[in-house]
Amino acid sequence: MSQTSEKLNPAADAILQLDNIEVIYEKVIFAIKHISLQVGPQAIVALLGANGAGKSTILKAISGLIPAQRGEIVQGRIFYQGHDVTQATPAQLVSQGLVQVLEGRHCFGHLTVEENLLTGAFVRRPSAKVLSQELEKVYNFFPRLKLLRKNQAGYTSGGEQQMVAIGRALMANPKLILLDEPSMGLAPQIVEEIFEIVHQLQQTQGLSFLLAEQNATVALRYADYAYVLESGHITHHGDAQTIASSQALSDSYLGKQ
Ligand code: ATP
Repeated sequence: MSQTSEKLNPAADAILQLDNIEVIYEKVIFAIKHISLQVGPQAIVALLGANGAGKSTILKAISGLIPAQRGEIVQGRIFYQGHDVTQATPAQLVSQGLVQVLEGRHCFGHLTVEENLLTGAFVRRPSAKVLSQELEKVYNFFPRLKLLRKNQAGYTSGGEQQMVAIGRALMANPKLILLDEPSMGLAPQIVEEIFEIVHQLQQTQGLSFLLAEQNATVALRYADYAYVLESGHITHHGDAQTIASSQALSDSYLGKQ
């Protein structure tokens, strides 16, 4: 396990790399500082930390959503597939396969499950044939969504809405998915089901995931690598097993750095 004072070597094969990122909201609120991290190809990487540690801010910095929150990336650079995307817009990133699933799921409640999924393909404007193939692919991973496809999304359960949100991201044909708190407010059995699908997507589709989680126990069981955050800084990082068996988490969550 490493302390973060160590400089990361730029990895030629990293799908995502953050170098020394700093974000300020409303010109005065420092949310994250000196954030350097990497996500390898076909890897699940976890961002762990308590409420307000800066997990969502990191994901939003990557996906181009910081300006929409009256924030600014004031320092550092973000590379996706080797290209500098620090100032890229969310639409540009989605079209390149970098998609975020926001915290709280954000389904269109008045649309059906299937209509929600279809909105995910909007950026690519695929043919009707490709669209129906991709829907089938999503339904293969989430058979429950196929059963619910004509139901209004707003009347489905929290777990089903999380599945819709991930399914919608899949419709954009992603290479990297940023998942914000997928376990939030869900029963343990559903959380397990969702993480199992994330694992399958990694294994069978070669997708990479960067996931922000307060539920470190479950995240570390599925992640390959983890970064622990406290007050906007990375305090520890290492392979998931090492982090799970170390004091890093309890120190960080209890503020004993
Ligand atoms: P949570 O799990 O509660 O979402 P988090 O680890 O994702 O926590 P962030 O939401 O990234 O943390 O918040 C990091 C810091 O930035 C917090 O101090 C928070 O109050 C602040 N912050 C987040 N969003 C904004 C915003 N839009 N404007 C001002 N401050 C913000």
